[in-house]
Amino acid sequence: MTSTDRRCSANGGCCFIVPLNVLRTYAGDPNLDPQVRMKLQETFVETGRLKTFREAGRVAAVAFRRSLAPALAPAEVRQQVFDCRNGHSLPGQAIADPGGAADAAAKTVYEVTGKVAQFYRSLLHRNSVDNQGLELVSSIHYRRNFDNAFWNGQQMVYGDGDGRLFGEFYNSPDVIGHELTHGVTQYESGLRYEGESGALNESISDVFGAVFNQWLNGWTADQPAGWLIGAGIIADKEKQTGKTCLRDMLKPAADHCISPQPDSYANFDPTADVHYNSGITNRAFALFAQAAGGKSWERAIEVWYAASTDKRLSSEATFAQFAALTLDAAGELKSRLKEAWQTVKVPV
Ligand SMILES: [Zn+2]
Repeated sequence: MTSTDRRCSANGGCCFIVPLNVLRTYAGDPNLDPQVRMKLQETFVETGRLKTFREAGRVAAVAFRRSLAPALAPAEVRQQVFDCRNGHSLPGQAIADPGGAADAAAKTVYEVTGKVAQFYRSLLHRNSVDNQGLELVSSIHYRRNFDNAFWNGQQMVYGDGDGRLFGEFYNSPDVIGHELTHGVTQYESGLRYEGESGALNESISDVFGAVFNQWLNGWTADQPAGWLIGAGIIADKEKQTGKTCLRDMLKPAADHCISPQPDSYANFDPTADVHYNSGITNRAFALFAQAAGGKSWERAIEVWYAASTDKRLSSEATFAQFAALTLDAAGELKSRLKEAWQTVKVPV
């Protein structure tokens, strides 16, 4: 395997938090400093290049997943954190004691990644992303001012951001939860990263990332902050322009989103990036969790976990097929869930 393959290959390929169209739009924004635009352009080119490795990885992952033995008992998940020192070789230099490191990035990534594993273990009885106790590997300080974070099929990778539009990508717990959930999806349904299945793949990552963040902060489903994706990665200067997040699951089309999305299946765009159409199913989950009441991680997330790990969920699944599986798992919440799917106009 060449060093290029190592960056974005193995079982699932690369899944980024910031979509290509956002990087391209801001790289062309004449109101931004030329240095910042250059960083966005570099990230755009690198993200596009890494994405091309994905499909082969997905096919291999589905084959691998089917060969797995039943899950072992949940246990403490092992972790490693590496420092890329602004280079592009992965994983980079091992950090001996990331939990006690002076570098805030190492410490935060180590602690929050451990919390994601705890979230999956204690609430959903899952033993790491593969349900087999896979060691979680993270690399920080990837390239210089890199404007993205991604799961490359084997590990997590975080950029430091350009400082004007985006800050450090490890600063949003939901982003860490989102990316690790791409690993979970890779070992479960292997949802194909295009069209409706691709949007579902993205949406499932947003759902588990957001609910993880709510759990971490003790927020109930009616608190709007818990539905923002990437609130912690928006740089202060960008916040002054009124942008507060990458996406808002409750209000996908709102002006405060850097990457606005459709909020109804009536506006599904078959030509759009998977991060665009995911707004539709994101909103269905947020509406459902609010209708269920209380904390999203107590009941609503169990329904989504049951559906997203259901053996009947094919890698080519449509929104309607996924919705049917959620309804199967909803029990006494079925009528409230049905209403949420109807609000976003997904046929159920
Ligand atoms: Zn993603």
